[in-house]
This record gives sequence, structure tokens and C-alpha cells, in this order.
Amino acid sequence: MRLVLLGPPGAGKGTQGSRLSARLGAPHVVVGDLLRSVSMSESPVRTTVEESLTRGELVPDTIVDDVVFDAISQKTGGFILDGYPRTREQAVRLDRTLSRFAAPVDAAVVFRIPDDEVQRRLLLRRRPDDTADAIRRRLEIHHRNELAVVDHYGGVVVELDARGHVDEVADRLLDALREAASTP
Ligand code: ADP
Repeated sequence: MRLVLLGPPGAGKGTQGSRLSARLGAPHVVVGDLLRSVSMSESPVRTTVEESLTRGELVPDTIVDDVVFDAISQKTGGFILDGYPRTREQAVRLDRTLSRFAAPVDAAVVFRIPDDEVQRRLLLRRRPDDTADAIRRRLEIHHRNELAVVDHYGGVVVELDARGHVDEVADRLLDALREAASTP
């Protein structure tokens, strides 16, 4: 199963992605975590990545593409991709990469949640890049790109109401995926 998780920061993609990964046996590829480890490594792009993370800006495509495509190319048994694509251009490049293996995305799960709930959750999380300014910037970037990304996945979009308790959302997600799998 090859899934991409779409939605604003703080929507619960990380939490649900890791549960789903345990459930489906497909690896959870967390792009933010991969980038955070680059920012703490000796990599020549370390400073560029660190600066983007701190400001809440997108990391330049050449860097993020390398990190993501390298991670998914090492996975057999599909993946649950969390944090990529965030722009239509990224989605197009992901398609192109997957088409080499004749392995398209099976479903794009769209986490729906209001901004005020997201802001509340992110401020509770206390990650170093969860400052009020960086959060505002990440939400702005998200809203600027979300329509085009969701549009790109057209027929394989699975909508998810991401409000409420973690268990409730997890159940809803499994139901939605089952329903999507049974509708041709
Ligand atoms: P959140 O979902 O809360 O924004 P993430 O851990 O997914 O948190 O991402 C943290 C940061 O990593 C983003 O603010 C951005 O700087 C960078 N990042 C993550 N995914 C991408 C991507 N697809 N393209 C460019 N930068 C990204």
C-alpha cells in the first residue's frame, strides 16, 4: 500500500501515520524527521535545512527530493509518506519517480481540521520550530498549496475529519480506507 498523508501541520498525520504503519505493515516515512536529522548531521546542506526549519519555510526542492526519494526507494512493501508532497510540483515529481517502478500512489488521505485547533495543538507540542511565527508561516504555505495538491490526486483522495480523539480519528481513517478500497 502506497499512501500519502496530506493536511496542515498539527493535523495528526504523524500520530495516525505511525498507527497505520503498525497496522498495515508499511513503513512510515516522516519527511520532517528526516530533515531534522539532516539539520543535525555533518551534511553540507545542514545549514540550509536548519534555516528553513526554523523559519517554517519549505526546504529547497533539490534537498527534500533527494531525502524523500532516497527514503522511499529503500522501502519494499509500500510506504506511508508523511510531509510530502506539499506542493503540486512535488506531487508531479513523486509521480514521475514512482512511475519508474510502475508503483503509483494508492490513496491520498486529506486530514481536515480547522486552523485554530491546529494552532492549539502545535503550541502544546513544543518542538523548537513550533514558535508562533513559524506556525503562522507553515499554515500560510499549507493553505497556498493545498487545493492544487488535493486536486492533483483527484480520484484517489480519501477525506478524513481529523478532529477529536486519536482513537476516533484512527477508526475513521481505517473505515475511510476500507471504503475507498471497495469502491472501484
Ligand atoms: P509540520 O507538519 O508540523 O509542518 P513537519 O515535521 O512535517 O511538521 O515539517 C517540519 C518542517 O520540515 C517544515 O516546516 C518544513 O520546513 C520542512 N518540510 C517538511 N516537509 C517538506 C516538504 N515536502 N518540502 C519542503 N520542506 C518540508
